[in-house]
Amino acid sequence: MANAEVADVVIVFAATQPDVRGRGISAFLVPLDRPGINRVPSPDSLGVRGLGCMDLHFDEVREGAGALLGEQGRGFKLAMRALEGGRVAIAAQALGVGQAALDEAVRYARTRLAFGQPVGNFHAIQFQLADLATDLEAARLLMWRAADARDRAPKATTEAAMAKLQASEAAHRAADRAMQILASEGYRRGSTIERLFRDIRAAEIYQGTSEVQRMIIAADVLA
Ligand SMILES: Cc1cc2nc3c(=O)[nH]c(=O)nc-3n(C[C@H](O)[C@H](O)[C@H](O)COP(=O)(O)OP(=O)(O)OC[C@H]3O[C@@H](n4cnc5c(N)ncnc54)[C@H](O)[C@@H]3O)c2cc1C
Repeated sequence: MANAEVADVVIVFAATQPDVRGRGISAFLVPLDRPGINRVPSPDSLGVRGLGCMDLHFDEVREGAGALLGEQGRGFKLAMRALEGGRVAIAAQALGVGQAALDEAVRYARTRLAFGQPVGNFHAIQFQLADLATDLEAARLLMWRAADARDRAPKATTEAAMAKLQASEAAHRAADRAMQILASEGYRRGSTIERLFRDIRAAEIYQGTSEVQRMIIAADVLA
């Protein structure tokens, strides 16, 4: 769980009426110093190592009605609304990673000489840069559209899912292609591209995997 290393309180979604599934989930604001809660270091991650991830173990933790966040049985709705905002934020985060990868690739293409000229003179490199710039611009527009919908509309579920899906996958492609363009310089431990390449993978997993985003979008398309 992200930030568990430093968090004082967490929001716990628990089944208070399991027989009615989604309508029986409630949200609780729980201080992490409660007896029965343990922070357990999670195994090292491929990337986003500054995220302060730890596992939280709950053993017979008791909370009263005072810890209830919102109404009983409305936790699922709360979680979905929070995830909408989170997904727009992940889209923006992913876009930043993708843009940084493209910037690195452009810098290298301008300065690295091969066969007596910058590698950016070769069409093989130019076309990759053109595709990445287009892919990221599409992600940027979807992210802005989702942020706008989130501000103005009562619901932005599909917009947020599309923005997160496109931005995380476009940024992953950007980090991958940038590594190809920087070649051995990008593949080195400690290079900017190496870090972007490792970090971006998480964006296709947290706040709902790409499969989950596609399920949300498909449900809207088929509705
Ligand atoms: C760096 C990092 C930080 C995280 N931080 C947090 C956090 O702060 N809080 C938090 O709550 N969680 C956090 N997570 C957890 C994250 O949200 C989950 O990893 C994610 O939701 C996927 O769940 P899972 O790993 O259990 O995958 P699984 O549920 O095991 O899924 C396995 C595979 O099956 C696919 N799949 C599952 N169900 C379906 C379905 N119905 N249809 C099609 N495909 C399906 C998934 O997309 C995936 O490819 C974090 C994860 C990472 C990597």
